[in-house]
Amino acid sequence: MKQRLLFLGPPGVGKGTQAALLCQKQNLLHLSTGDLLRAEVASQTSLGIEAAEIMNRGELVSDSIVLSIVEKRLATSNDGWLLDGFPRNLLQAEALEVLLEKINQPIDAVLLIELADELLVERLIARGRADDKETVIRHRLEVYKEKTAPLIDHYNQHGLVMTISGEGDIEAISSRIQQKLI
Ligand code: AMP
Repeated sequence: MKQRLLFLGPPGVGKGTQAALLCQKQNLLHLSTGDLLRAEVASQTSLGIEAAEIMNRGELVSDSIVLSIVEKRLATSNDGWLLDGFPRNLLQAEALEVLLEKINQPIDAVLLIELADELLVERLIARGRADDKETVIRHRLEVYKEKTAPLIDHYNQHGLVMTISGEGDIEAISSRIQQKLI
């Protein structure tokens, strides 16, 4: 079983749910930058107050904020981990590579989960989080295509990408993921 994983895919595809399930089963550290940022927002730290406004617009929070959050946590993990929602752009991916080289923990696999835009929008509207209003959702999809989707090519060049369909229910997606990762 691969131990150091990265989940890629558009907002609404089920990354967070699937990441949590897999981490529980395989005892991996689940590192979701979105969850960590929402925790900062909930405790109204200065970082959280700054991030909330950006998140509610569907923009990306600054690379330096996100990198400091990730760096602290990865440095303390010596077992496996799963990165969910990070990296979100090429600059974050490059910074991650430097960090992973330093701690000698290369990525084993990048799992790309895909789903058609209209299904993503439907799912997100049904979820109803603070940043799940239709205009914000559509903007997050654009940000994904412009900034995050280029990472697919980047990791393909390293031969790391495995693609699965995000269609169907939680169980169906989960079993597809496990088959890929054996
Ligand atoms: P998520 O929970 O991954 O959908 O992220 C929710 C929001 O948090 C995003 O729309 C961004 O505003 C912010 N965010 C999460 N992860 C990152 C990241 N790696 N870089 C920049 N912003 C992020």
